[in-house]
Amino acid sequence: MTIHNFSAGPSALPRPVRENLAETFALDDEFTPSVVEISHRGKGFMAIAERLQAGLRRLMGVGDAHEVLLLQGGAHLQFAMLPMNFARGRTAAFSITGHWGEKAFAESARIVESRLVASGVDEGYQDLPELGHLPADAAYLHYTGNETIHGVQYAEPPAAAVPLAADLSSEFLSRPYPYADLGMMYAGAQKNLGVAGLTVVLVRRDLLERIPDDLPTFLDYRTWANSDSMKNTPCTFAWYVALEVVDWIESLGGLEAVGKRNRDKADRLYGAIDASEFYANRVHPDARSIMNVPFVLADDSLTMRFVEQAEAEGMPGLKGHRAVGGLRASLYNAIEPDAVTALVDFMREFERRHG
Ligand SMILES: *Cc1c(COP(=O)(O)O)cnc(C)c1O
Repeated sequence: MTIHNFSAGPSALPRPVRENLAETFALDDEFTPSVVEISHRGKGFMAIAERLQAGLRRLMGVGDAHEVLLLQGGAHLQFAMLPMNFARGRTAAFSITGHWGEKAFAESARIVESRLVASGVDEGYQDLPELGHLPADAAYLHYTGNETIHGVQYAEPPAAAVPLAADLSSEFLSRPYPYADLGMMYAGAQKNLGVAGLTVVLVRRDLLERIPDDLPTFLDYRTWANSDSMKNTPCTFAWYVALEVVDWIESLGGLEAVGKRNRDKADRLYGAIDASEFYANRVHPDARSIMNVPFVLADDSLTMRFVEQAEAEGMPGLKGHRAVGGLRASLYNAIEPDAVTALVDFMREFERRHG
């Protein structure tokens, strides 16, 4: 039985990447050191670091105006580093479209003046809110490109006359995106770029001038910009896996091809949900996520049975986040189109048996 893993994160790796990793870490008779057993400053690893940096820049389409930093601490550390670096003495503006935006806002409010200029909370995060007035001293507008739990996604970045700061954790490199137009963005690798431990941070270089001089060294973006993200030992395993994933995305034809593949997968799943009275997704069609599809059963008492039977039939990871309940299928890059076919078939059969 082929297993289709719909986990929201950490999530499935592309099959060819899993195969390459198995080969990379297979033990030979000579105990040749693997990529995680050598100095990060040696020639072997430096070549990997350079290829990863170049590959990410190619896929994002960014040039000298931006720094690409490879950090640790996850998206959560960026909730704090971003205001510390760029919003001291100014106001951080937020559009909140779900759970992760709430978290980013709460952390920012501990550090700098922070203001909500849009929120979907009153509509239960089922649509993208209108943007209100930005404060005159707004340092940036923070938004969550894809809300992983609520399944709400900005089709394109919001229009604002200040730098945009985006949490793109769950949609990074999933489609063509105007990365070069952003002031900053961050994304944990464990959704679409491999394994936990690595956070990609894109920063527009001119914003580095705003950074106050009294930050702890490791919390100052300049430290990482000036050291090729090697001020200390990086998470070499996560960098290596990320390079494998970048190579795999390029082998599929880059973001254009990957975006089309993801769109098709999502369309088929939403189509199956909408065609049935048994399943429902309540997010406004224009705001629906291509990456994370939350849905509910008309009869919620069947939810656990759905999760268990799906897992028994080779489809783990479909339980909704505990904050919202229900079900959720995450359709990241690594999810093959045939996984969606299997899920839709299972949903029809489950409805036939229980509807
Ligand atoms: C997963 C996720 C996070 C949390 O990421 P960590 O790396 O665990 O800090 C934050 N924002 C979004 C949009 C996510 O999907």
